[in-house]
Amino acid sequence: MSDAPKPSNFIRDAVIEDLQTRRFKGVVTRFPPEPNGYLHIGHAQAISIDFGAAREFGGRCHLRFDDTNPAKESQEYVDAIMRDVRWLGFDWGEHLYHASDYFEQLYEWAVQLIKMGKAYVDDLTADQMSEYRGTLTEPGRESPYRNRSVAENLGLFERMRHGEFEDGSKTLRAKIDMSSGNINLRDPVMYRIRKATHQRTGDTWCIYPMYDWAHGQSDSIEGVTHSICTLEYEDHRPLYDWYLEQLAIHHPRQIEFARLNLSHTVMSKRKLLTLVEEGLVSGWDDPRMPTLAGLRRRGYTPEAIRDFCERVGVTKAANLRDIALLEHCVREDLNRRALRRMAVLRPLRLVIENYPEERVEELDAVNNPEDARAGTRKVPFSRVLYIEQDDFRDPPPPKYFRLSPGAEVRLRYAYVVKCTGVVKGLGGEVTEVRCTYDPASRGGDSRGRKVKGTIHWVSASHAVPAEVRLYDNLFSVPKPDEVEDVKTVLNPRSLETLTGCRVEPSLAGAAPESRYQFERQGYFCVDGPDSLPAGLVFNRTVGLRDTWAKIEAARA
Ligand code: ATP
Ligand code: MG
Repeated sequence: MSDAPKPSNFIRDAVIEDLQTRRFKGVVTRFPPEPNGYLHIGHAQAISIDFGAAREFGGRCHLRFDDTNPAKESQEYVDAIMRDVRWLGFDWGEHLYHASDYFEQLYEWAVQLIKMGKAYVDDLTADQMSEYRGTLTEPGRESPYRNRSVAENLGLFERMRHGEFEDGSKTLRAKIDMSSGNINLRDPVMYRIRKATHQRTGDTWCIYPMYDWAHGQSDSIEGVTHSICTLEYEDHRPLYDWYLEQLAIHHPRQIEFARLNLSHTVMSKRKLLTLVEEGLVSGWDDPRMPTLAGLRRRGYTPEAIRDFCERVGVTKAANLRDIALLEHCVREDLNRRALRRMAVLRPLRLVIENYPEERVEELDAVNNPEDARAGTRKVPFSRVLYIEQDDFRDPPPPKYFRLSPGAEVRLRYAYVVKCTGVVKGLGGEVTEVRCTYDPASRGGDSRGRKVKGTIHWVSASHAVPAEVRLYDNLFSVPKPDEVEDVKTVLNPRSLETLTGCRVEPSLAGAAPESRYQFERQGYFCVDGPDSLPAGLVFNRTVGLRDTWAKIEAARA
């Protein structure tokens, strides 16, 4: 993260105002994920904003699991979320909390509201309740159970807690206003009965608080000052405020921003879970997924993702960001940092007829032209090499500067070679290219001749076999969310697996998650330890061509 002054936005302005007017003495924020899935790039934006605000104003940011729905939550998700927040570069220190830490306190406060005549036990079924709720244009109707006495409500609520009633047979509701223009204030449910085992509280509870009841009060207990959330909670803010006012407890300020949407992908955890459960991807960390685990495995750096979040900024208006911008960010970051290597993805044998059989030379290759400190390495060169199938054409199309019969090309870091012929297989396909080399051109010096093309290569007897996975967008349309069934717009070419690739020997034993630029091809990342028994596997992060830069240039 750079130290350059940050452009202001409405969240920052609000925080500054609250510090100046002394509404709050410091800044405490929280990131409140529900552990019902893995974090995705949208969460990264929320994390950047929450932790970023705390960092900027010398405050702190809590990680709080919103674990109020045991049916959908699990420890696997809890662990993955913590790992991913840390990987992104943020730290909650000792401030790890769970909404479930507060179940007892929340229960007591609910009892308090009942005693104040502000909450009641309702026997309406879910269907009846939605019928009574009214619509945006019509007021709701009051439940026949709304005017139970305080004593009766207290008794029933206690019996709810003790498991005397079936799931769904009763709820506790706040008594607010059934004719409110804001449907969230039409006697919202505070508790529902759910006889499910919770990953932390086990079977202690069979009534669970609703999000709105748990959230604001949890914020208050933790002394949160700014409860930053996405726009869909704007209409819940009056309820957030109402609960806190009734209880007369510390009152944080809720501020909403527009959620991040990214083209060619989906961000709903429900839809992502479907992809995982139906085996349409290999898991939550499939490199095509917009999850942080997927992006990490794809080769994204935390820096690139934070940079993306900065550039996207904070807005109030719903927006769709082009996935090309995210790719641009990682390309920029890796261009600065990734070591260059030579890898041949679709090998074609090249034999240098006038190069001695047994000879091997160690040639110097630059590790990163963007970073002199990265130094150089030795690359072995010998009589038989592999080049990319694409780098030989017979006959050559117009303006083709690579290899074709009679043509010369420079082998990167090595010599100029001239094609003298080819060997063909039974089907007429080229199986081998024959060349001669100019010994005086060592290091690529063309000695005054015009040699326009430079191609990469590996030495056949030294190269290491590898599998390379080329990824493309998971969906073939920019807005998969707009179609009924996202499965119908999956990109059938989102993964191409190349086996039999050959990479230069310095990549033998490359560590999982290490990232390289394969010269002329793009950025690649060593796949995780799971795939290691199968040998070296590289995931393509992005190609070298920057479509975002093109979009920007066209706009200018
Ligand atoms: P669900 O659809 O299950 O409610 P969610 O995406 O809202 O999921 P949460 O775990 O509740 O998931 O999200 C944690 C926080 O991340 C919330 O404060 C939420 O507002 C924020 N968040 C979620 N999705 C995005 C997004 N696309 N852009 C920005 N912030 C997001
Ligand atoms: Mg949510």
